[in-house]
Amino acid sequence: MKNISSKTLALLRSIHFSYYKIAFALVATIIISSFKFELVELFLFDLGTTIKADLGLSNPKNKKITLIYIDSNTIESFNGYPSYKDHSTFLEKLSLYKSSQIVYNFRFENKQIIEISGSTNDQKLFAKTASTFSNLYFITDDLELKGQESNLKLAAPLNDLQVVSGPRTKDIKLNPKNKISRRILISYQDQLLIHQRLASIYNPSIVNVENIRGKYHYIGTDQVYIDFHKPNSFDAFRFEDVLSGNVPPQYLTDRIILIGTNTNKFIEDYVATPYSSETPDLITITELQANMFQTLIDNSAPQKVPPYINIIVTAAISILTVYVALSMTPSKGIMLLVSTFLGYSFLAVILLYFNIWIGMAHPLLTIFLCYYFFIPYRLIIENRRSWEYLQKNKLLQQVEELKSNFISMMSHDLKTPIARIQGMTEVILKDNISLSSNQREAVDTIKSSSDDLLRFINSILQYGRIESQGIELNRQSKDINKILQEIVKKHDFLAKVKRIKLTTDLEPMFPVSVDSELVRQVFSNLIENAIKYSPEESTVTIKSYESADKVIIEIQDQGVGIPPEEISNIFMKFYRSQNAKTSTIKGTGLGLYLAQYFIQLHKGEITVTSEVQKGSVFRVELPINS
Ligand code: ADP
Repeated sequence: MKNISSKTLALLRSIHFSYYKIAFALVATIIISSFKFELVELFLFDLGTTIKADLGLSNPKNKKITLIYIDSNTIESFNGYPSYKDHSTFLEKLSLYKSSQIVYNFRFENKQIIEISGSTNDQKLFAKTASTFSNLYFITDDLELKGQESNLKLAAPLNDLQVVSGPRTKDIKLNPKNKISRRILISYQDQLLIHQRLASIYNPSIVNVENIRGKYHYIGTDQVYIDFHKPNSFDAFRFEDVLSGNVPPQYLTDRIILIGTNTNKFIEDYVATPYSSETPDLITITELQANMFQTLIDNSAPQKVPPYINIIVTAAISILTVYVALSMTPSKGIMLLVSTFLGYSFLAVILLYFNIWIGMAHPLLTIFLCYYFFIPYRLIIENRRSWEYLQKNKLLQQVEELKSNFISMMSHDLKTPIARIQGMTEVILKDNISLSSNQREAVDTIKSSSDDLLRFINSILQYGRIESQGIELNRQSKDINKILQEIVKKHDFLAKVKRIKLTTDLEPMFPVSVDSELVRQVFSNLIENAIKYSPEESTVTIKSYESADKVIIEIQDQGVGIPPEEISNIFMKFYRSQNAKTSTIKGTGLGLYLAQYFIQLHKGEITVTSEVQKGSVFRVELPINS
């Protein structure tokens, strides 16, 4: 419980800390959202449409369209475009299949169909055949203006054919040269156009245009975006296949038959789509018309999400980006942003599969804009911080230098008067001056205090030397046992005062190459500590033995011990345990620091195991061949 609340607190604190970042991000969102990135949005729509098709997610749901092409083969076998006569035969053939709707997609010029040839008589014949079809339409790009519908009519004798407006749109925004078609006109000047009219036969729900998905109003028109299907996903046959009865009936019955050209000769037969705005990947106008009809039959036009969702998503991504730019390590941040970018794009494609069109331009651009706006800001702040840090560090270094200079100067100057005090007390003690017992005790105290002081000063001087230039070893081959015995002897008096038994257990050993002065100091300190931190009438044992290629020395006491939480600190300079600080035991906190330093100079190791109120064992390992 406590853990959870402390986590929540930390989270709250970090949120509080982030207030200004959130504010920045929201301002960025407002600024970014106020720009219309239509071009980028369309580009991303095209990209999403293409990816969706590449992933195989764009097949028509309710296939109701068959394409009949007049292609280069047809032209070859008919020695040019099929004539009106051929088309009459074609229509007669189709009439056998009860095709639902027949839609011609041929080009008109001067009220003539330029892709059908033939005499006036042929035209008459064709007009007669066509007149028996109520479901035959000729699509034109021209719009019938209210009251001027007759303007669309073809010249006699074809003037009774049903010419209808089914314009393809040409978006020139993205690339003025390749006018990409992306939209369907549902109505113009309140008149419903052919796509809605024919598609509603197959999908009665769209008779009411309010039910058309993704519909929006734009200058006198109702429009939707096309739900594009992968190129060549519609059933397609050749003109001559119909004539020769080679088209299976299910492709002709109850379908919208779109007739058009695919000769690979005229660029006018092809259109640019989101899949491609370049030849040779353009699709035929007929296939574009198929996409338009199919979108309405499936009622699957992409529906734009409301703008407020776009703003919320942009704000969330801005906040994330600003947080990343200001608070995360660059590598982690970039990784997170790239995943967000890819994740969001992936989500957009998935939504497009469900015909939901979520704005991509703002959220994705916000990543770049926020990141590149806030990174320099962060750099400036960090630069200033590191400059301040550098200044502080410099100052600290100077203070540190001053301090150690001062300490070593002081200690050095103190040494001479102390030596003089020691000399004088020794003279008093040696000369047989009759002193009262009180006076003798006083002189003894002066002597031991000045000894303590001198030791203290020596440690400080040594520490100063280590800090400034380090110490060089003056190695000689020495018998460690002999050194230990000498030290034990020297400390005999100190031990006796506390009635502590100093015992030794020294195995014979090979001489070791050491700096005897430093090693002596290490063991003196360890034995002195063992006596200092032990109660009266306890035992201090000094052991030595060889193990593999090492000499091991252990100093064991039955003293106060060291609490586990302090063990890792006792080798730090000037560290004295809590116990030691509160007791009357004197010390500098430098002894173990120096001991460890000296033993490490010998490539050895010093370790301790201890139990409070039971005692401690300090263990020194010195390599024999170093
Ligand atoms: P000091 O001058 O305080 O003895 P040292 O560096 O020699 O400084 O020791 C650091 C601290 O380690 C001491 O203050 C003491 O708390 C602890 N310590 C060292 N040796 C022993 C020991 N044998 N038993 C218990 N505590 C010890």
